[in-house]
Amino acid sequence: MRDNFDITRLLRSNVAGLEPYRSARDECKGASKQMVFLDANENPYPNGVNRYPDPRQKDLKEVLSRLKGVDTNKMLLGNGSDEVLDLLFRAFCEPRVDNIIIVPPTYGMYKVLAGINDIENREVLLSANFELRVQEIMAAQDTRSKLLFLCSPNNPTGNSFSEESILQLLKSFNGLVVIDEAYIDFSEKESWLKKLDAFPNLVIVQTLSKAYGLAGIRLGMCYASEAIITILNKIKPPYNVNELTQERAKDRLLETNKVDFEISCLLEYKNDLYKQLLKVHFVNQVYTSDANFILIKVDDAPGRYKQLIDAGIVVRDRSTQPLCENTLRITVGTQAENEHFITVIKTL
Ligand SMILES: *Cc1c(COP(=O)(O)O)cnc(C)c1O
Repeated sequence: MRDNFDITRLLRSNVAGLEPYRSARDECKGASKQMVFLDANENPYPNGVNRYPDPRQKDLKEVLSRLKGVDTNKMLLGNGSDEVLDLLFRAFCEPRVDNIIIVPPTYGMYKVLAGINDIENREVLLSANFELRVQEIMAAQDTRSKLLFLCSPNNPTGNSFSEESILQLLKSFNGLVVIDEAYIDFSEKESWLKKLDAFPNLVIVQTLSKAYGLAGIRLGMCYASEAIITILNKIKPPYNVNELTQERAKDRLLETNKVDFEISCLLEYKNDLYKQLLKVHFVNQVYTSDANFILIKVDDAPGRYKQLIDAGIVVRDRSTQPLCENTLRITVGTQAENEHFITVIKTL
């Protein structure tokens, strides 16, 4: 539990005074009568997408709410989680004044977004076994530290951080703790969603790009206190989630059995891949993974990467990330793709 957390203290001053864009349709929201819409200069002839999409994505949020057990007023949806992450910067981080903390090796977008938004990026490396160094993170923060990004399960290492370390940070970090759960559906660990009410400084980001198989539609989700979501709603582009995305997302979220089946297949293939990778002569380490990818340490990552490219297989070379010297990250594919990959990698 954490009490007395004042969100207005973290807010950028321009955002505090901002008057959001309103469409005429915001004003007649909830009208039960069939309305005639002559307000937005749309083409009136129906083709399925001739009207602007619902800026608050009401129907989609209700489906998500049932699935995740979170109130719709504690959710914000975006054009991929990358947009959601950018909105957090724009709401809370004053350029050239505030800072964020990331814990490399981790997802590359946090640093990129800090650069775009002109925010100081403080880096506190993970320990050698890819765990959080809580004391060092606490020592790196000051009164201008607004966001702490924790990716769990972590990309590219694949492990989830210990619950105890995350709890300590939630209890003592001065700014918002953003937990990126892009891979949570592959993990045996529980989501932090259940802790939303206990921690007013907790922000959880999820996506439909990975386990849900919808990278092409771009839908990211942000879960946080109603106070935080109200702020983010003020600055989001009004029509950031298009109509086709809202429809496809709703359909897919209702196909629970199909999604669960695909996830269980991928987890089984991941275990097969893990065992096979251990047998490859130039693979020095295979890291255990809570996600749908495996990080391996090899003799010469750029060289092996190039050999795989020449054989028609693209993996990710993560060698330039701290603590990841000579590592490659391999996404779990279909059974046939994985078998082909293993056959090829054993011939190198
Ligand atoms: C893939 C990934 C995302 C997804 O981003 P989208 O913009 O939703 O596709 C977010 N965070 C992490 C850590 C990822 O690996």
